[in-house]
Amino acid sequence: MEVLQTVEEIRRYVSSLKKSQKTIGFVPTMGFLHDGHASLIDRAKKENDTTIVSIFVNPLQFNNLSDFEKYPKNEEVDRLLLKKLNVDILFSPQTSEIFGSFQDNKIEMKIPSLMRNLCAPTRPGHFEGVLHIVSKLFNYTLPNRAYFGLKDYQQYLIIKELVNNLSFPIEIIGMETIREKNGLAMSSRNSRLSPEDIEDATLIYRSMSMAKDYAKKKSTNINVVKEFIKEILLSSKNIKIDYLEILDPLTLEEKEELSGNILIGIAIFIKDVRLIDNIRFEV
Ligand code: AMP
Repeated sequence: MEVLQTVEEIRRYVSSLKKSQKTIGFVPTMGFLHDGHASLIDRAKKENDTTIVSIFVNPLQFNNLSDFEKYPKNEEVDRLLLKKLNVDILFSPQTSEIFGSFQDNKIEMKIPSLMRNLCAPTRPGHFEGVLHIVSKLFNYTLPNRAYFGLKDYQQYLIIKELVNNLSFPIEIIGMETIREKNGLAMSSRNSRLSPEDIEDATLIYRSMSMAKDYAKKKSTNINVVKEFIKEILLSSKNIKIDYLEILDPLTLEEKEELSGNILIGIAIFIKDVRLIDNIRFEV
């Protein structure tokens, strides 16, 4: 595996791949890698001649400075895992390499219809930061395919829309959430939780799964299902709900009736650690 740290290096490498007509699979990450990231990398390896993984903790997408500063890092361990996964290129630039003096002039993109709910109102500026960095990374790596996790479902839809709307010649592939045995969605942020916090965090998936079964078995309405989930989550005093929403999974508009395709999206805080998860199903 080669580790590239500058824009010039990655552009040179990508240009030589293009000359030899090699396809490129790209997996953008913020590091502190786990099996969720590995599942995206495995798929990219299978579908492309060359796989590029980036590790970059993007300051633009953090609306909270302490969340940015406390974001877990261990690039040494990440590199060992990436080597084991036979990744071809790790692109791991410094912040100054990516933003230079342009931070004050950053372009802010918005996709209004997909940014009304879920993480957009509760993390102002987050998706603008994501759209900005992902556009830059796409321009450096010129991938044929890019891989994103459905744990960040809204991000996946927004990036698909970016690519369709602005005609990036890239196929966006979404991959199901990889979970711990106890159901908790794998996340770099889980490393900031104590064993007791982890126990509480498992209530996210448990409450969504129970709500899904409940919704499928009984004819009920959205408010009842929301109350059902709330009660389970708030059975722990350690949990603060950031949002709990039941939406249409294609448009991200609020559902009025509990029928058809359903997305339940949840964000909670355990102390100052923010965790998100979602499930999608049909009633
Ligand atoms: P991150 O490093 O958290 O920015 O995530 C990088 C990519 O990995 C994003 O596309 C995430 O959606 C994806 N990802 C994170 N956690 C998981 C997971 N548990 N299962 C599948 N994909 C994930």
